[in-house]
Amino acid sequence: MRLRNVPGSRDTIAESQFTIKNETECKGKWNEIFGNDNPIFIEVGMGKGQFIMTLAQQNPDINYVGIEKYSSVLVRAIEKQEELNLPNLYFIRMEAEYIADVFATEEVSGIYLNFSDPWPKDRHAKRRLTSVQFLERYEQILKKEGHVIFKTDNRDLFDFSLEQVEEAEHWKLLNHTFDLHHSEYVEGNVMTEYETRFVEKGNAICRMEIMQEF
Ligand code: SAM
Repeated sequence: MRLRNVPGSRDTIAESQFTIKNETECKGKWNEIFGNDNPIFIEVGMGKGQFIMTLAQQNPDINYVGIEKYSSVLVRAIEKQEELNLPNLYFIRMEAEYIADVFATEEVSGIYLNFSDPWPKDRHAKRRLTSVQFLERYEQILKKEGHVIFKTDNRDLFDFSLEQVEEAEHWKLLNHTFDLHHSEYVEGNVMTEYETRFVEKGNAICRMEIMQEF
């Protein structure tokens, strides 16, 4: 992703009622923060937030937390949320590696990964959000019956992710497609910013759904 420094973005994030500032103190308390017992779904690497904001609008009885590491991107989601004022959506600016410090065991009902950074060099494989290392982190926070849903147009990253699910001790593949937009899984699909762009270019979108196995 090409990143521009957005002047004032850190201040906007610090001042917004929709960003969580003390995220590690929220661990185990997310239902208190939302003020209800509704399930909590998260998107890791949400970018400007089109996907998670659409879901939050469509599903007022589900709580959403969007995680993004760059202020310059997150600020765009905050600007939109300031207009929409959705009570079931918060954002955190953080590096997802520390996700298990922010959510307690089984506090999360589902995880979305959309068009995650590919980290093409082998020595960076651990940084990919579908690596065995990240799957172990998701295990620490996801409900036993919870799903991780991953979409990408990057076939190498998708193939790597299929291998990682196989390799990981406690995960199984529920379904997958190499061409989401010509498959049964397209029904109800919510487009992300990157997806819109890639579909316009004619790229096939891969999608997988995985869960823990006991
Ligand atoms: N999900 C959005 C979409 O599909 O339109 C954005 C995709 S963009 C290629 C990937 C986003 O994930 C970037 O905004 C990047 O900063 C964020 N990201 C990547 N790795 C991350 C990590 N480890 N922790 C938090 N955010 C991350």
